[in-house]
Amino acid sequence: MGAARSAGWASCGLAVLLATAACAPSADKATPSDTLVLRDFTLIDGTGRAPVAGQALIMAGGRIKWVGPVAQLKVPEGATVQPLDGKFIMPGLIDSHVHLGLVNGITQDLKYQTTENIEQQLKTYAAYGVTTVQTLGTEQDLIFPIQKLRDGRPQMARVYTVGRGVVYKGSYGGVPGLEQSVATPEEARAMVDAQAAKGADLIKLWVDDEFGQLPLRMPPPISTAIIDEAHKDGKKTVAHIFYYDNAAELAREGIDAFAHSVRDKPVDDALIAQMKAGGVWQMAATLSREASFTYKTLPFLDDPFFSRAVTPAVLTELASPERAAKLGAAPNFPKYGPTLQMALANFGREAKAGIRYGMGTDSGPSARFPGYFAHWELELMVQAGVTPLQALTAATSANAEFMGAKDVGTIAPGKWADLLVLDRDPTADIRNTRAIDAVYVGGNKVPTIWQTCTGRPANACGPRP
Ligand SMILES: [Zn+2]
Repeated sequence: MGAARSAGWASCGLAVLLATAACAPSADKATPSDTLVLRDFTLIDGTGRAPVAGQALIMAGGRIKWVGPVAQLKVPEGATVQPLDGKFIMPGLIDSHVHLGLVNGITQDLKYQTTENIEQQLKTYAAYGVTTVQTLGTEQDLIFPIQKLRDGRPQMARVYTVGRGVVYKGSYGGVPGLEQSVATPEEARAMVDAQAAKGADLIKLWVDDEFGQLPLRMPPPISTAIIDEAHKDGKKTVAHIFYYDNAAELAREGIDAFAHSVRDKPVDDALIAQMKAGGVWQMAATLSREASFTYKTLPFLDDPFFSRAVTPAVLTELASPERAAKLGAAPNFPKYGPTLQMALANFGREAKAGIRYGMGTDSGPSARFPGYFAHWELELMVQAGVTPLQALTAATSANAEFMGAKDVGTIAPGKWADLLVLDRDPTADIRNTRAIDAVYVGGNKVPTIWQTCTGRPANACGPRP
């Protein structure tokens, strides 16, 4: 850990091998064995407050016990003290729109949705400083035992989940092989109740037709039934939308949030007024999703911040001319550029108008990468017109507020010590979120992306920049 210890613990790890009794005096003290003090850093607390220099925090049992100016710090006896001069500490990022366990490399198939694969992806999120994710509707019931781990100190990202979202039979949504479509309002209500009974945190529905390629979109009698039943069950509702008209209709019906930007035409004053009146959030703008579709070859294959997380075989596949030719020849390829521009403009317009927003990527499907896309999303949000501090606030306290995740999202006493330690100020340049020095989940350090070198020897990925 490289930490200086204020008590006689430095040799304890070795001593314990020789004589357990050598460590016993520490246990006799009232101080929890894992009390850690971080000091001399600049705090970005997640609330939207500007960075404050010269701060310290105390964590114990995985939770933040105290945070404040170094001058007021009282180091608990026996605590480990770590000076972090020049570093920045912010809450771990929250991605409000992900899908888990859908891929092996970039090959997508529901058969890869195993507990082991999901946990590996959650470790990847954590390595990128994304310490909580919310999965939006393509998870089998195996997600619920993983969801429960969020109440402890997992060595990976915490999970909030929809479980299975609701798809209208014959329209767009869900993933192949997962039974989640309904044909009638009664079936829709029954499915909402079933998901709520399993422990779903919120309810998802899809209203789209894939650029008109599918004959149907979910009609209002179904979406109203879903929203009404979810609210009866005490659950928020979030919709996949693409079209302005569907967004407006869902806002009238009482939807709680949109999981994508409106992408067919500009958001106007009428829709903004309706969203405000109904308290509808732009929970995820998924700008990184839209941006990724505009490339035949992704522009970051040489970026070690990306490439460390994937195998050389995946890098080769992503770089192949055959893949580029195939993507470029797809009928929808020319539509993605204008779609991205519309999403950027609409997100910027909503943010400026005072619509509440979070940060979400829709990562998890093929070639939409856990963690990396969260940093890309923040960058695109800033490109769309919000400040870096606003983007960071969206990805921390705002997401936590929408999700009802009371234990995360800010750095304050009582919260989990889910922390992102950075070498450089992310409010000065949003790309500094990539300068990851350390990540803590529940007070435990987890390996960062800069300590990751997937599918290669540990030293084959080069030094940390
Ligand atoms: Zn999604």
